[in-house]
Amino acid sequence: MDTAYLSKPSTKPAGGATSLVSVRRVSKQFANGTLAVRDVDLDLGTGEFISLLGPSGCGKSTLLRMIAGLASPSSGTIEWRDGAPDARPDLGFVFQDPTLMPWANALANVMLPLTLKHVPKREAQARAAEMLALVGLKGFENSYPRELSGGMKMRVSIARALVMRPKILLMDEPFAALDEITRHRLNDDLLQLWWKERFTAVFVTHSVFESVYLSQRIVVMAARPGRVMADFSVDAPYPRDDLFRTSADYASLCRLASGRLKEAIGS
Ligand code: ADP
Repeated sequence: MDTAYLSKPSTKPAGGATSLVSVRRVSKQFANGTLAVRDVDLDLGTGEFISLLGPSGCGKSTLLRMIAGLASPSSGTIEWRDGAPDARPDLGFVFQDPTLMPWANALANVMLPLTLKHVPKREAQARAAEMLALVGLKGFENSYPRELSGGMKMRVSIARALVMRPKILLMDEPFAALDEITRHRLNDDLLQLWWKERFTAVFVTHSVFESVYLSQRIVVMAARPGRVMADFSVDAPYPRDDLFRTSADYASLCRLASGRLKEAIGS
């Protein structure tokens, strides 16, 4: 297969998208001296689906958390289009753990961001119910987290992250704890949601297969110190579905991406 499927490294958004977030020479050193991220330059394009791919400890989560404003860089800047840092658009964040309130049902969990913004209850209920339906949980509004499977809890978590209709959804290995079949299903549903809602998606994973399946663009990181080693586009059309997952093209793309990862992390 032609290697043009994985096109050349770039820190610019794929497909000519305008940049939503510009990360410039960002480093993060923790108080114990660990240099988790060093000199990262990255542009996230509006509407792009990007994976941050790399082994454990290469700074993926730290970078994601800095983009979300959950941690601050030791040096460098993270700028959002449309101005100052406080012009950061609404963003959604999905953690590896669904982090649901155990005492509240699915609807109330998804309503939380709306309630915190003082959206009137009736409207909040309607919007949360609509989002639950979008993630495939119509009929489970009154179920409590303990009554839901791991995959369903993650769906609630995604619905909660998307209920404010954010411009950007940041996901930190959201499906890592799920079995393979559930993970594939959630990958498919996530792609459909992204296609429909057109948010910018940044997805942290250490799975080559998952990153190739989902992304338009893969940013490879390496550890000690955490840094960006490669940045390439995955030139396969959407929609991507089971047919794509079992195609020769997908297998070739995974092989090429795996080669890029090995080259980048020097193993
Ligand atoms: P990844 O998400 O790629 O697994 P992380 O961003 O979680 O990597 O961590 C990058 C490095 O920073 C690791 O060596 C990790 O141990 C270290 N680290 C992460 N958080 C902290 C912290 N709060 N204090 C000290 N070191 C940390």
